[in-house]
Amino acid sequence: MSLESEVPVAEEAVSRETAAECVDVAIVGAGTAGCLMANLLQEAGANCVLIEKSRGLGGRCSRRRVSIAAPSSGQLSRKRNKNSLSNSQNETTQLSIDLGAASFSPESIKHKTLEDRIHNWQEAGILTSWRYQTCHFGFEVFEPFEEPTHGLTALPSMNTWHKHMAAGVKQITACRVCQIEKVSSVWYLYDEEGELIVMANKVVITSPAEQTLGLLTASGLFEESLEYQRVKAASEMSLGQYVCAIETPSLLDHRVGVYQGGHGILAKATRLSHKGILHETANHNIDKDIWMLESNYQWAKAQEQEGVSQEEAALELVQAFCSQFAIHDPVRILTSHYWRLARHKMGSDTGPSYILDTDSNLGICGDWLDSGDIAGALNSAQSLFNVMNQKFISDELNQQEERA
Ligand SMILES: Cc1cc2nc3c(=O)[nH]c(=O)nc-3n(C[C@H](O)[C@H](O)[C@H](O)COP(=O)(O)OP(=O)(O)OC[C@H]3O[C@@H](n4cnc5c(N)ncnc54)[C@H](O)[C@@H]3O)c2cc1C
Repeated sequence: MSLESEVPVAEEAVSRETAAECVDVAIVGAGTAGCLMANLLQEAGANCVLIEKSRGLGGRCSRRRVSIAAPSSGQLSRKRNKNSLSNSQNETTQLSIDLGAASFSPESIKHKTLEDRIHNWQEAGILTSWRYQTCHFGFEVFEPFEEPTHGLTALPSMNTWHKHMAAGVKQITACRVCQIEKVSSVWYLYDEEGELIVMANKVVITSPAEQTLGLLTASGLFEESLEYQRVKAASEMSLGQYVCAIETPSLLDHRVGVYQGGHGILAKATRLSHKGILHETANHNIDKDIWMLESNYQWAKAQEQEGVSQEEAALELVQAFCSQFAIHDPVRILTSHYWRLARHKMGSDTGPSYILDTDSNLGICGDWLDSGDIAGALNSAQSLFNVMNQKFISDELNQQEERA
């Protein structure tokens, strides 16, 4: 087994100077909730900016470029594109793979307008329906299968969708918002060095609960309020997860897209090459089985407490997978990662799926305020947008139009 070095992903960004103006809304975080919020605000005519601490968009739907061995010459596609580069000298192919969520269930979407928006993205080919067979780990291969699972995905990786949602919106990436301050009626957002990033009339925070709490605390906001207590309680409910992508020489039961449940270490194994067959170019260029292994949360917590490194944890995940399926040939680790804030454990919070302080024009949304998954992030952003739109955006835009 070998650990491959990761190829950095360059994403589109604008310079600070371009954004150092006073915008209507500054959105902190460009995951699913942040990108949907940007999409909705832009459509409503608001001037907004997305600020993301990572280099690319997507958050827990981000991707990573990995190198896999090139397919045998007989299967090489004559048509090559930027997503699939073959190099005849070192015989490797670069692929974008999902490092976090690979798909989501549209069934728990709560807003009709959001359902319609998702439907439009499907029609436009931004989201693709993915049907896959899910099996319990250790399932007897010849037993009858359950109904296939229906999810939505984006190709070649989930953050293609995020880039689409945020297209046309100003983006500042590789920039962590460390403090926000309201002076008079304007919000000032600062980075790690205390440099001003942008000024805004309204701020929407979309980071996971723990990071939101850090930002509110550093900014001295909401102190002792019910909202602060809500964020604080939620910040204690995050679950960590190790993930590891592997390339296996032998193909497992080709009908299975996802193995899930019933294993002491592995929570889920997703056949990303199965997702790849939806993608025409990938279909021509992959002849390997590529799996994304996800650890279960209790095991991840124990590893973190013991100080186990990401690489050691990845090796254990691979060993668990290989012994589960009696794989004896060498398996290549393509990449691994530790998501410290992978998932949100749902607790007893029954409040609305957003937080909005109308006095200060500060909103908060994200998966942790709803169902803790992609549908939850979407529902939360849509709910916050609906209230903001009612309360001030429409009014202000109307006023602007009247003034003009
Ligand atoms: C391995 C894995 C597998 C998963 N599988 C599934 C699945 O199959 N189906 C499903 O529905 N869900 C799945 N999920 C959960 C899903 O990915 C999340 O629920 C969803 O992506 C959360 O979106 P979000 O916008 O609320 O948060 P995030 O995606 O976390 O976005 C928040 C963004 O804010 C940024 N940020 C944080 N602090 C700052 C700051 N101070 N300044 C600037 N930027 C900041 C972060 O970098 C991040 O990009 C999975 C998650 C993981 C980790």
